[in-house]
Amino acid sequence: MAREKQKESSFEGKVVLVTGAAGGIGRAAAVAFGRAGACVVVADTSVDGGHATAAMIVENGGKALFVQCNVTRAAEVEALIDKTVAYYGRLDCAFNNAGIDEEHLPLADADEALFDRIMNVNVKGTWLCMKYEIRQMLKQGSGSIVNTASVAGLVGAPTQPIYAASKHAVVGMTKTAAAEYAREGIRINSVCPGVVNTPMMGRALEREPLREKKLRNVHPMGRFAEPSEIASAAMWLCSDQSSFVTGHQLAVDGGLTAI
Ligand code: NAD
Repeated sequence: MAREKQKESSFEGKVVLVTGAAGGIGRAAAVAFGRAGACVVVADTSVDGGHATAAMIVENGGKALFVQCNVTRAAEVEALIDKTVAYYGRLDCAFNNAGIDEEHLPLADADEALFDRIMNVNVKGTWLCMKYEIRQMLKQGSGSIVNTASVAGLVGAPTQPIYAASKHAVVGMTKTAAAEYAREGIRINSVCPGVVNTPMMGRALEREPLREKKLRNVHPMGRFAEPSEIASAAMWLCSDQSSFVTGHQLAVDGGLTAI
């Protein structure tokens, strides 16, 4: 019970930003951070979904602010950080989770527009978020950032060459920035989920229902992750419990990358 209480209150008073928080992994994380005592900033392009996540946090007794933000636009990301600081006074942790996956095609069949869409959100969006978060964290002399990469940032992902390239880029930025800012009190890590039971996954299975069994079986555990399981890993990386961990890619994949 005492241990549970300690866990629940580990983000008491901390200001935590979650992008892509209108659904899926981001919503699960935002709600969990709120339950753990954090002042949460819920960021997403989706107004309805973002407000719904913020309402869930408040219903659970937490504090939440929704800010509409498209992470591909520098001015919107800069304004997101400004609003966070204006409202809560600082930024302690950021979970840069917004990302997209679209049609699955072998490399030679994909077109330029698909490449640009995926790279724009997954790579440029993550870079912009880190850029403005780090500027704020440098002023404070502390901060912890977690980016959502993927197992597709660690190994190849047949029929998802552009997505895999984008997540390898997230891993590259994570490692590099971790080294750049380690002495400034800022830690930067990534979570690398296997397949997770989210709306993104639902859309992929609608396009290719026959892949479900095969996809489950690439995980030695024989199942997909629940969003809360990725949220727990991101929270640990954000928290002081991982105080000597930086530049790390934490696979949360039911064993997928172990074989
Ligand atoms: P999701 O589609 O269920 O949720 C993603 C959220 O990001 C949505 O609310 C969406 O509105 C938001 N978003 C998209 N583009 C945005 C933008 N430009 N600016 C702001 N918000 C934007 O997806 P999810 O499955 O929860 O995925 C979350 C992250 O996890 C993504 O980075 C994804 O690549 C990664 N991931 C997912 C899986 C999986 O199997 N679901 C596996 C590995 C990694």
